[in-house]
Amino acid sequence: MEPVRATNRGNVRNEVGFRVILSVLYALLWLVRLYHMRATSGLGGKILRTRHDRLRIALILLFNLMGAMAGLVYVFAPHRIRWATLPTPTWSRWLGAALGIVTIPLFFWTHRALGSNWSADLVIKKGHTLVTSGPYRWARHPMYTSIFGFSLAVSLLSANWVIGLVGLVTSILSAARVDKEEALMLDEFGEEYRAYMERTGRFLPPMKPLVRAAR
Ligand code: SAH
Repeated sequence: MEPVRATNRGNVRNEVGFRVILSVLYALLWLVRLYHMRATSGLGGKILRTRHDRLRIALILLFNLMGAMAGLVYVFAPHRIRWATLPTPTWSRWLGAALGIVTIPLFFWTHRALGSNWSADLVIKKGHTLVTSGPYRWARHPMYTSIFGFSLAVSLLSANWVIGLVGLVTSILSAARVDKEEALMLDEFGEEYRAYMERTGRFLPPMKPLVRAAR
C-alpha cells in the first residue's frame, strides 16, 4: 500500500506546485501589460476610435477576462474545473512550466521595443514609428508569438481543456488579424515596410538562412 500512497502524495504536491507556477505566470503577464500601459500612457498620439473599434476592444477585453476567470478557478477552486482535466503525463506539465518561463521575458521585450506604438487594437497612432529593433529585428509579430507560446504553456501546465480552449481562441484571434495588420503597416510605411517584410519572418526569424546552411 505504501508506494501507492507515496505516489498520491507526490501527485498532490505536484498539483499544488503547478497551480502556484500558473498563478505566478498569469500575474507576471498581467504585470508586464499593465506596467507598459502605465509607462506609455500620455506618450504617443491619441487615436480616434469608432464605435466598431470600441466594440472590438470590448470583445478582446471580455475574452481576456474569461481567460483570467478560468485561471482563477483553476488556481483557487480546482475541484470546480476538474471535469475538464486532460490525462497528460507529468513531464508535459513541466514542459509547460518551462515554456511559460521563457515566454514572459519575450512578452516584456516586445512591449519595450514597441513602446508607445503598442495598442490592443490595430491602429496607426499620431507619431507612429516603424519599430525594427529588439525582437522586431527578426520577426514581424513576436508579441503574438509570445502569446501563442504562453497559451500553449498554460494549456500544458494546467492539463485542463477549458484553459487550453481559451488559449487556442486567443491565439487564433491574434493570428487572424495579421494580414490586416500588415496591410495597415504597408499602407502607412510603404516601401520601408515592404523591405522590412523581406528580411523578417512572420512569427519566427526567417528560416531561409538555416535552410541554406543545411544544404
Ligand atoms: N503584431 C505585433 C504588434 C502587436 S501590437 C506583434 O505581434 O509583435 C498591435 C499594434 O502594433 C498595431 O496597432 C500595429 O499598428 C502596431 N505594430 C505592429 N508592428 C509594428 C512595428 N513593426 N512597428 C510599429 N508598430 C507596429
